[in-house]
Amino acid sequence: MNDCIFCKIVEKQISSEIVYEDKYVCAFKDINPTAPVHILVVPKQHIESLKEVEESHKELIGHVFVVAKILADKFGIKEKGFRVVVNCGEDGGQTVNHLHFHLLGGRKFSWPAG
Ligand code: AMP
Ligand code: ZN
Repeated sequence: MNDCIFCKIVEKQISSEIVYEDKYVCAFKDINPTAPVHILVVPKQHIESLKEVEESHKELIGHVFVVAKILADKFGIKEKGFRVVVNCGEDGGQTVNHLHFHLLGGRKFSWPAG
């Protein structure tokens, strides 16, 4: 956990472009954006991945989605639509082992995702 890059961002030990913060979550711009708007919404609590999510995290996870909607509005992608993605584990393409939600918008996305 001490070596977790997102914990370090949350604790401001590493700089990032923070666009929203409250008691429970921190949201910052992805360093390698894959869409015109690419924001990571990150619970401040270190939870490794969706695999570790428990009943006690229900409110926190719900809050993440409210924040995602607020940010979609703030960054002008709410009307046309957007995507929220959670990559989990090796096959899911997770590269940072601190639960995070990608908020993506400003272009069209295809489905099924490749
Ligand atoms: P995932 O592949 O779902 O684990 O997503 C991790 C995301 O974190 C990737 O999109 C990276 O570009 C992003 N990322 C990694 N390091 C940083 C950083 N220091 N600041 C902002 N975004 C980062
Ligand atoms: Zn962490």
